[in-house]
Amino acid sequence: MKTKEEVIELRVQIIETALRLLEEGLIVRTWGNISAKIDDDHYLITPSGIKYEDLNPSMLPIVSISDGSYEGEFKPSSEFAVHSAVYKARSDAEFIIHTHQTYATCVGALGKKRLKSEHKDKKVVFPIAEYALPGTKKLADNIIESLAKYKETRSVIMSNHGVLCFGRDHNDAIKEAFKLETASKQYLLDICKTDLDFGVDEGYSSYLEDGQIHYVKADTPERIKIIHKQIYAKRPDIKYIFHNKSEAVMTISRRVNHMKPLLDDFAQIIGVSVRIPTSDAQALTIKKNVNVVFGFNDGAYCLGVNEEEARAAAIVLDKGCIAHVAVIRFGEGRFLSVFDCIKMNRNYRKNYSTLANYAKLML
Ligand SMILES: [Zn+2]
Repeated sequence: MKTKEEVIELRVQIIETALRLLEEGLIVRTWGNISAKIDDDHYLITPSGIKYEDLNPSMLPIVSISDGSYEGEFKPSSEFAVHSAVYKARSDAEFIIHTHQTYATCVGALGKKRLKSEHKDKKVVFPIAEYALPGTKKLADNIIESLAKYKETRSVIMSNHGVLCFGRDHNDAIKEAFKLETASKQYLLDICKTDLDFGVDEGYSSYLEDGQIHYVKADTPERIKIIHKQIYAKRPDIKYIFHNKSEAVMTISRRVNHMKPLLDDFAQIIGVSVRIPTSDAQALTIKKNVNVVFGFNDGAYCLGVNEEEARAAAIVLDKGCIAHVAVIRFGEGRFLSVFDCIKMNRNYRKNYSTLANYAKLML
């Protein structure tokens, strides 16, 4: 049982941890969640859909481990069931971090049951829990099953999704998340011969304002402008195009003609199936509900209702491309089922439009 002062301190630590992971690139936007146990039946957790920069300590809801009810003005993260399950299963879990960190998440798309790698010259083994749709009881059960097999571990990779790391306190849990990311990066390098950096490399972006296309760079070539015009004409819902020419995206655009989701944020934010042209003569594939248009050997145009959303698609695409390259070089991978992808994509669009409406109401 924590004292009142200790609980206040934990609230601050959760936000500080979120901001640190955001700064270090292990968390992007609000994609992740963090919690801390306060007594045998309760924990604090980051709320759903609020930017970490906008969080203050009093906004963190308190969730009951036994019945999932919560106290507080803000709704707990939608992935709280996984946190509850880990607190129930492991008495050494007092602080939990869930992220979609790039390299460990990519390892979780290879279809492996465990990651054996090295960290500071020592052998390390991390279990990889089987896939289940986010927010489901099945997902929590799969994680608990993996942790039960590996009683020593305080980290688990969630197939096609992300990771969960825990410890006695925030420092312990942060260390776990970094250890797992370093070991995963090393594995991708050693076994998959993949050392792609994560991030976006902006080419020629544009936005729509008052019915006019504005190009971010004055020297945007005419042939690129034609592509932007085609996209806006076919996608009246789009207001921003972010052109991503990162190394991972370029590698995929040269080697693959079709991308199916390996990671569930790809299915949600980008779409269920992405075609890639194999020659200059081939027409671009611009589809409703697919937020990426690949050019021929020219990176990918990532679409959004505003700059933030287009950049989000670019970041998610970059990670998806690293995973895809790793799978090609590893020789196998576990793709998500079309059924799961369609379900997630629909849910995301439905929830997203609700959020957008909510944001409008708040103005
Ligand atoms: Zn997640």
